Amino acid sequence: MSLLTMVEIITKKKLGEELTQEEIDFFVEAAARKTAPDYQLAALLMAIRLNGMTPEETTRLTLAMTHSGDVADLSAIPGIKVDKHSTGGVGDTTTLILAPLVAACGVPVAKMSGRGLGHTGGTLDKLESIPGFSVEETEEQFIRQVNEIGLAVIGQTGMLAPADKTLYALRDVTSTVDSLPLIASSIMSKKLASGSDAIVLDVKTGSGAIMQTLEGSIELAKAMVDIGTLAGKPVTAIVTGMEQPLGTHVGNALEVKDAIDVLSGRTKGALLEVSLLLGSHMLMLAGRAATVCEARELLEAALSSGAGLQKLREMIVAQGGDPRVCDDLSLLPQPAVIRSVKAGRSGYLAAMDTTRLGLIAQSMGAGRIQKTDALDYSVGFILPVRIGDRVEEDTNLCVLYARSEADADRAEAAIRETLIFSDAPVQAPPLCRAIVTHEGITRFD
Ligand code: URA
Repeated sequence: MSLLTMVEIITKKKLGEELTQEEIDFFVEAAARKTAPDYQLAALLMAIRLNGMTPEETTRLTLAMTHSGDVADLSAIPGIKVDKHSTGGVGDTTTLILAPLVAACGVPVAKMSGRGLGHTGGTLDKLESIPGFSVEETEEQFIRQVNEIGLAVIGQTGMLAPADKTLYALRDVTSTVDSLPLIASSIMSKKLASGSDAIVLDVKTGSGAIMQTLEGSIELAKAMVDIGTLAGKPVTAIVTGMEQPLGTHVGNALEVKDAIDVLSGRTKGALLEVSLLLGSHMLMLAGRAATVCEARELLEAALSSGAGLQKLREMIVAQGGDPRVCDDLSLLPQPAVIRSVKAGRSGYLAAMDTTRLGLIAQSMGAGRIQKTDALDYSVGFILPVRIGDRVEEDTNLCVLYARSEADADRAEAAIRETLIFSDAPVQAPPLCRAIVTHEGITRFD
């Protein structure tokens, strides 16, 4: 029987000391089995937030969290399975684009995704806006579907990383989300438990990201690559801009529409570019392409032939949804009010508070304020202007999809407040800032 106590472990971390494997195991076990009260777990989380962890401690914490529950076995799916994870953003719907494109290139995509969290959207919520679509499958169904059509996107099966479930919920309400060791261990424990052979990470940076500075984002990317390397899994982390929503659409059904527009070849731009970049690195880690150029050509061919959109249709059918949404977007949930808003001024869009934009979509009904809230899939907004764009008084600034005129009024005022204009021209920010692998960091700034 262990003689350790939570108070001793909290005290050690409060004093800035390094925790041993035994102490970390004790803490993780207490979180997974809920054998310690929330106030002690939260006190330790705050001590970690304030005093940090060494790379060795972060790795120990990650591996303990990975093994706090089941580890999925995807060995029944032939080939190299590459997972992809984003640290979270707004209008960040790359999975719905790259997963079908990568699958259409012959690389199996067995993906477990998450729900919206705070100001960030979640792939599962977006998929559930497709009438009939189910994100729940047993591990057997999941494996069968990937073997049959090459693609499945579902919620986590079984008891995957239960310690993270407890700790994440506590971090959300104790101001301890923005801690590098806690973010790295939370993400990597789930990725290592979900059974893929290699991982592509999209680490966001900017006003809508968890890590808002470039240096912080690169440090987070490096920590996660190091953990993956120690666990024997190749990881490529790409640091991309989140100083504005990635796609022009924010909201669940709206983001499905954005993804279908991209896969149909109707929309180009930042969302497609980042999807192709992440997808290219997935193809390379899977051994399907030797260079980014070769991988991009394969993905572009799957896009222009319509093979990517066809894969999305097949996945929707396999998961019980209505595939006609791919050809008739009016079958997606529609809001009571659609309002176009003009800029009402001239100038260059210089900056925006992207976290706030995500919170505005959440408050319109696109995200949960309480864990049990039901979502309104139809609501959100389209923001076609991007940083650096010139607007005139009558330029369409945004289109609001709201439950009522009153909600539209509130959203319009709030969106206007977050957008900052300048009279002088503004440089559009680059999409890709850095790529981090076990070989080193390549910066593009
Ligand atoms: N996403 C996660 O899964 N965990 C974090 O801590 C942050 C983003």
